[in-house]
Amino acid sequence: MKVTDHIKKADGKTLFSFEVIPPQKGKNIQDLYNNIDPLMEFNPPFIDVTTSREEYVYIDKGNGLLDKRITRMRPGTVGICASIMHKYKVDAIPHLLCGGFTKEETEYVLVDCHYLGLDNVMALRGDSMKDEPYFKPVQGGNAYASELVKQIADLNRGKYLHDDVVVEHNSDFCIGVAGYPEKHMEAPSLVTDLKRLKEKVDAGADYVVTQMFFDNNKFFEFVDKARAIGINVPIIPGIKPIAIKRHLQILPQVFKIDLPQELIEAVEACKDNNAVRQVGIEFAIQQSKELKAAGVPVLHYYSMGKSDNIKAIASALF
Ligand code: FAD
Repeated sequence: MKVTDHIKKADGKTLFSFEVIPPQKGKNIQDLYNNIDPLMEFNPPFIDVTTSREEYVYIDKGNGLLDKRITRMRPGTVGICASIMHKYKVDAIPHLLCGGFTKEETEYVLVDCHYLGLDNVMALRGDSMKDEPYFKPVQGGNAYASELVKQIADLNRGKYLHDDVVVEHNSDFCIGVAGYPEKHMEAPSLVTDLKRLKEKVDAGADYVVTQMFFDNNKFFEFVDKARAIGINVPIIPGIKPIAIKRHLQILPQVFKIDLPQELIEAVEACKDNNAVRQVGIEFAIQQSKELKAAGVPVLHYYSMGKSDNIKAIASALF
């Protein structure tokens, strides 16, 4: 079922959902299930599965030289979605990236998603690779998420990339896109970034999931500004509980977001990471309670491969 239909069916009740990361190449999928299992009691209608950007790996040739190759260290997104749907009887949403894929490869993946019965896809650009100064699409790839949305929406209308296809059975994907309450790091301003978000919605996006944020006022202002420029699709807040002390540096550095001073001080006062995890849980519970009271359609959690803290938060709310 589509995310938008889940939201309609909930009739104003806030839903619980979360995002998981595929195992590293060669690792067992059971660890992923072990993290999903404890969260199923909170009835997530859908689970997101991320896609990793390709990375450089260095192969030691044994002759003193390193061979530089590109690979994806966490493959399997679409297959994992199919196995989650099969095992848990919930919708699973693959994240699709512009980065590293040609449009033909993307079409191929979308056809797989369609035949597997996936009703939703999340359309994202992806970040630049570590040693690139800015994002570059591969030749023949989508350069912005809005282009990827258009490709998916075209396919929903039966328009494949090359016109020699007789369409007998259309896909009808519900399309999610990313939104940034504190603006995307590359955007010159929030106003410009919101215009880009509107382009994604105009191209066919059906709902927005936000980047993590720790100050609900930023989310509420973002939603108000989005509504003011005609973005009328559901906006789902993304919540990330702080889990280790290093998050104080990593999260602002990687995601260009602010942390509230009270949270920083509470984390700094912790003796170890067990205490930090507890602070993160308490903070996320308060944050989630306020968002729920404000009537957000879904509370979507970034589990980052470990679910004990998400379970503690969900227990207090759902
Ligand atoms: P876009 O919407 O394309 O925007 C990227 C930048 O380009 C923005 O600054 C925007 O303002 C600007 N822009 C857009 N259109 C134009 C235009 N026409 N001209 C000029 N500028 C323009 N990353 C992963 O690698 N894997 C994942 O699974 C993943 N999941 C995510 C889930 C969520 C909910 C979120 C919020 C992010 C996720 N990301 C993921 C990270 C995402 O890939 C990065 O944030 C990326 O840098 C931007 O992706 P986007 O889809 O927002 O890009």
